[in-house]
Amino acid sequence: MSFAYRDGVYCAEGLSLEVVAQRYGTPCYVYSRAAIESAYREFEQAFAVADPHRRALICYSVKANSNLAVLSLLARLGAGFDIVSGGELARVRAAGGDLRKVVFSGVGKTEAEIVQALEAGILCLNLESGEELERTDAIARRLGLRAAVAFRVNPDVDAKTLPYISTGLKQNKFGVSYAEAERLYRDAAARPNIEVAGVGCHIGSQLTDPAPLADAARRIVALAERLERHGIALRHVDLGGGFGIRYNHESPPSIGIFIATLCGALGARRETLIVDPGRAIVGNAGVLLTRIEYVKRGEARNFAVVDAAMNDLLRPALYQAWHEVVAVRPAGVAIDSYDVVGPVCETADFLGKERKLSIVSGGLLAIRSAGAYGMAMSSNYNSRPRCPEVVVSGARAELVRPREHVEELYSQESIPAW
Ligand SMILES: *Cc1c(COP(=O)(O)O)cnc(C)c1O
Repeated sequence: MSFAYRDGVYCAEGLSLEVVAQRYGTPCYVYSRAAIESAYREFEQAFAVADPHRRALICYSVKANSNLAVLSLLARLGAGFDIVSGGELARVRAAGGDLRKVVFSGVGKTEAEIVQALEAGILCLNLESGEELERTDAIARRLGLRAAVAFRVNPDVDAKTLPYISTGLKQNKFGVSYAEAERLYRDAAARPNIEVAGVGCHIGSQLTDPAPLADAARRIVALAERLERHGIALRHVDLGGGFGIRYNHESPPSIGIFIATLCGALGARRETLIVDPGRAIVGNAGVLLTRIEYVKRGEARNFAVVDAAMNDLLRPALYQAWHEVVAVRPAGVAIDSYDVVGPVCETADFLGKERKLSIVSGGLLAIRSAGAYGMAMSSNYNSRPRCPEVVVSGARAELVRPREHVEELYSQESIPAW
């Protein structure tokens, strides 16, 4: 276990989180190197077991956690990367990632981003409209190269996930419609500066049932078969990410089952299978470490007011997401029920509600499963400096992003002379 109690203290690998808090202060994101590496290896292993002869590429979805330390760890394991902006491409480059293993998704790529991606020689641009095809073609012609593309096709299956993070339905802004896909592929194949490389889909996030993924995969495979009959051969099929993790009482299938499902849907087809997991690689590899400033006993509820807030971890406020909260060293007082809240002036500023904890003020809490969409979605709301990030490996810790200083928050601002 990467995060577990040892001698009564909650630890990241071989390091007590009390030591981490002492060294780096709170709030603070703490990631386990072993957890990230083992999650990646679980994907590799799943492919090796389910379909040993299939070429596969695991493209880590950078938006889940884009710290260079995380990207570099994965790059060294041989990962590819799924990006959604030019900024993420720059990060992958800075972390030493292999740009030839980068797929670029996103509904609104700008001209500058497409230029940047083509000049970098990435594996594939996942196009989301006919207009984007036109734009990409024009840029490729101007640059005198061929742009490798796929269309992100919307398979119109219900991912049965949170409404905010389901992306595979008709009414959704992502992808091109299934009905339209064939025409777009024929159009693309006829353009000399476009190279049709593959097909993509991504139906949503935090999937806890492989059935919708299997449905989507079968629809995409049927499309690939039809394209082949029209003489359009694909090199890869990108079946997205969205593999769910355990936050609370969910029981998502194992990575092995997810991957076996996708390989099964591809059957005897020879294309390379690309997956782009984000949360499943880093979600349970991080905690947000926070100190209790006040314990406030109310008539209806008790509150643990902590020094982390919705600007540090937005998921509870944004999605009513549930994160397990544990006392780093249970205080030995009676267990009571607390709402764990931050100091931000919003009722939505909570990290957990009605949690049974043995705590006193001054103690430390760890908000678990905070490795994905935690720091990546953080902000400076309420002029709160962003917290530091630390990677633990065994008994070692390394600060991979320092705490911001308040002055940095407004150093680029100015006051007009008038
Ligand atoms: C966000 C995203 C992912 C990763 O989603 P997770 O739920 O973190 O696995 C994968 N592919 C695409 C296209 C995405 O936009």
